[in-house]
Amino acid sequence: MRHVIALDVGGTAIKAALIGPDHELLHEARRPTGRERGPDAVIAGILDFAAELAATGEAAFGEPAAAAGIAVPGIVDAAAGTAVYAANLGWRDVPLRDLLSRHLGGTPVALGHDVRTGGLAEGRIGAGEGTDRFLFVALGTGIAGAIGVEGRIEAGAHGGAGEIGHIRVRPGSGPDARPCGCGGRGCLETFASAAAVSRAWAEASGDPDADAADCARAVDAGDPRARAVWQEAVDALADGLVVAHTLLDPRTLIVGGGLAEAGETLFAPLRAAITERITFQQLPRIVPAALGDTAGCLGAGLLAWDLLTTHLTEVSA
Ligand SMILES: [Zn+2]
Repeated sequence: MRHVIALDVGGTAIKAALIGPDHELLHEARRPTGRERGPDAVIAGILDFAAELAATGEAAFGEPAAAAGIAVPGIVDAAAGTAVYAANLGWRDVPLRDLLSRHLGGTPVALGHDVRTGGLAEGRIGAGEGTDRFLFVALGTGIAGAIGVEGRIEAGAHGGAGEIGHIRVRPGSGPDARPCGCGGRGCLETFASAAAVSRAWAEASGDPDADAADCARAVDAGDPRARAVWQEAVDALADGLVVAHTLLDPRTLIVGGGLAEAGETLFAPLRAAITERITFQQLPRIVPAALGDTAGCLGAGLLAWDLLTTHLTEVSA
C-alpha cells in the first residue's frame, strides 16, 4: 500500500505517523524530542525515528514509503529545505530535508514550518475543508498563523508570513508595553496566548499554578476577576485578528491551540468582539480547529503527498 512518513517535531515531543493516500493514519508513534541532549542529538534522534518508521511501513505494507514530510518550529526555508533557526532546539541552518532524504536512502522529503503545516491540514482536510481562503491562528505558548490561499500556504519572501502573534496591539508605555520574546513590545502574543492568559490568571487569582484552562472554568463559573483577565485577552485577540482580516479578507478564520480548547467560552466573546470592530469588512466564518494535535502530522503527510504531484503547497522566494 502506498504511504508516506510524517514527522511533527515539537519542543517536547516528536509525533510521527504513516499516512495513506486519503489522509488515513495507518500508524502513529511519538517520543520525547530530548532537547536537553543538545541540537545534534535531536537531529540524530529524528533521523533514527524516521528510519524506524520506514522499516515499520515497509514491513506492514510491502513497499517503501513514497515520500516523507517533516514539520519543525522556528524559522523555516521550505524551498531550501533548511531549518534556519529554532531557539528552543538550538538549531541554526540545519539542512534537514537533505539529511533526512539521505538517511532514508534517497526518499523524497518535504520540510515545513510547524504552524503553517498544521494550518495546511486544517485548511485542506480539517475545519476549513472546502474553503479557498483562510487564516489559521494557533493560540499556544505563543501565537502564530498560517495564511491559506487556494490550497496552499503563503510562506512569504523570507519564510515569515503569518506571524500574527507579533502584531503590536498595545502600543505605548507603562504596563501595556509588555516585552515580547521577539524583542518588541505590546505584541499580541503577550496578551492572548495560552501562556499569557495563564500568567495573568495566576497573578489575578493568587494561585501560581493556575493556568488558562482554570481561568476559562472560572469565567464559566462567573468569577469577575477571571472575566476581566479573559476579556483583556479576547479584546487583544480581536484587535490583532481584525488587522489580519482587513489585510487578507479570509473566508474562514480557524482558531486552534490550547486556548481554543475553551470552546464557546472563547468563541462567543471573540465573535462578538470581532463583529463590534469591523466596519466595511465581511465577517469571516470563525471556527475552532478540528484536528487537534494531529494537525502537524497530517500536514506533514500532505507536504509529502504533494511532493508526488505537481501541487505547490508552500511558496517561497
Ligand atoms: Zn513579539
